[in-house]
Parts: sequence; C-alpha cells; structure tokens
Amino acid sequence: MLSIENLNVRFALRDADVMTAVESACLHIAAGRTVAVIGESGSGKSIMGLAVCGLLPNAAMVSGRIVFHDVSLLDLHADRMRDLRGRRIAFVPQSAGLSLNPTMTCGGQVAEIYAYRQGRNRHESARLTRDLLGRLSLSPSVVDTYPHLLSGGMRQRVLVAMGLAVTPDLLIADEPTKGIDAYRRQEVIDLFTRMRERSPDMAVLVITHDIRLAEKISDEVAVMYAGQVVEHTHAGRFFDQPLHPYSRALLQAMPERGLLPIPGVAPRPGVRPQGCVFHPRCPLSTARCGRLDPPINGCDDSLVRCWLYARA
Ligand code: SF4
Repeated sequence: MLSIENLNVRFALRDADVMTAVESACLHIAAGRTVAVIGESGSGKSIMGLAVCGLLPNAAMVSGRIVFHDVSLLDLHADRMRDLRGRRIAFVPQSAGLSLNPTMTCGGQVAEIYAYRQGRNRHESARLTRDLLGRLSLSPSVVDTYPHLLSGGMRQRVLVAMGLAVTPDLLIADEPTKGIDAYRRQEVIDLFTRMRERSPDMAVLVITHDIRLAEKISDEVAVMYAGQVVEHTHAGRFFDQPLHPYSRALLQAMPERGLLPIPGVAPRPGVRPQGCVFHPRCPLSTARCGRLDPPINGCDDSLVRCWLYARA
C-alpha cells in the first residue's frame, strides 16, 4: 500500500550547511498492518511521517520515492496531495490540545468532515458523528462539548475520529501518547484496538518514542536512528530477539529490561559520523563500521542496516 524508497529529507542551515533529517529511509506498509516507527527524539520519524503526508515546510529538500497505491506522492501537485490527504490518508498530529479548534464543539469538527469531504447533509453528518464517537467510546455529550473541557485521552480520540471520518486507507498517528499519563496511555491502546476492529484493512503507521505502546499495538516495528531506518521486523521478533545493536540497546534501556542507558549521545543534526551512524555508540563496532555506511540487508524475515548482517 505504502512504499517509502530511499527517502532523504534535508534542510538548509543559515551558514550554508545542510541538516539531514532523514537519510536513505526505506519502509513498506501493507494493508491491514500496524507499523510502529520508534526511536529517540530527533531520529527523523516525525519528519518521515510529515513527508508521507506532504506536510513538510517548503524549505525541505526531499528526494527518493513515496508510493501510495501506485501514486508517486512526491510528484503530486499540492492540490491533489491535499485531496488525497483528506480522503485516503489521515494524519493525527501530536498535541491533541493544540490541534483541535477551541471555538468549535468536538462534534461540530467531526461533522464538518462528513459534510465537506463526503457531501453529507447536516442531519446525516450529525448522525454519523454520533455513531463514530460512540464507537470510539465517547459519550453522546462529547458531541456538544468544547475541546478544553475534555481529558487529553478524550481529545486524542476526537482527533482520531476526525481522521477516521474520511475512512482512510492509511492512518498516520504522530506520538499519540506524548505527554499523557499511564491511565490515558491505556485509553490510547484501547482506542487503537477498537480502531483495528472497526477498519481491519486500514494500514496504520504509529510514530512513537513509547516502546510499550509499540509492543501493545503493532504488527511490525521499524527502528529509526539518526534519520535512517536501521531495522524493520515483526513485532514479536523485535521484542524477543532484535537484530540491530541499537534496537537491543533501546530495549535494554527499558526499566523492566535492566534500565541500561545507551552510552554516548545521538549525532547532532548536521554533524553525522562517517561510516555507520551508530558506530560511536556501538559495542560491536569494527574498523569497517567507522569507514563505511552499511547497506540495508534482509536477514531471515527482517531488514537490518548493520555490517553484522551484510551478505559477503
Ligand atoms: S554496522 Fe557496526 S557500528 Fe553499525 S550497528 Fe552494526 S556493528 Fe554497530
């Protein structure tokens, strides 16, 4: 359904330098699959999501290919991209509090999508809105409630409802648990479970730093580091036996797996090490790792960007 091939996103800096946010990223998502893209802040995962949605600022320099149902998104005119984003690709931004219109009721914001995107009349839009919010376990009173009167988890559900109102083929959710507590995180997990039941053919791309969320809701996990997708594999495989040294380090940093900090820091944007981008922090680094950037390779049923798995 969605194929990201060799995607690069760069931004020009003031002193004529260039910051690389995404580098040679590859990712494929099939219908009906939920893929979690995880990684530390600044790893490029949100930028990749914005690139798919055509929401990068004009200053971004983008190359590579993003193909959605045989349509090359990077070649689309802005109007066609906007239309596609409104009908077949839904984007749920982070910060639900900031993304909803504070001057409109929640129901009004969902109903507006039915009216403008599907041409429904007022009565139908209201009925569909009540039905959709109900299926996301929001009480009927939410229809007439303003966003600031709801909890963060409920606002998140309203945003998801706005995305689902267009019955998309692909839903991209950016940091759905950012800034919310453990109770509300469970609400988000329940929401994704219900969403999957409601739309089993929809592909879902969840961009998150929340590894526990990824474990609960994803079929596949893609790990990003310094703008690159360094591992893409089945969720079960990832949580049992990750291949890439960075993936292993990420899991070992979780409290229930030892709380081992990852030594060193990620490269600053615009200052990338030669060779493998992870080599200054990698316990398995060799001389070759410091000289040459590894290609992405198939290993069993995973893709991994590391010399340890390179074919001879
Ligand atoms: S290529 Fe080398 S430095 Fe990079 S992750 Fe693999 S072993 Fe570590």
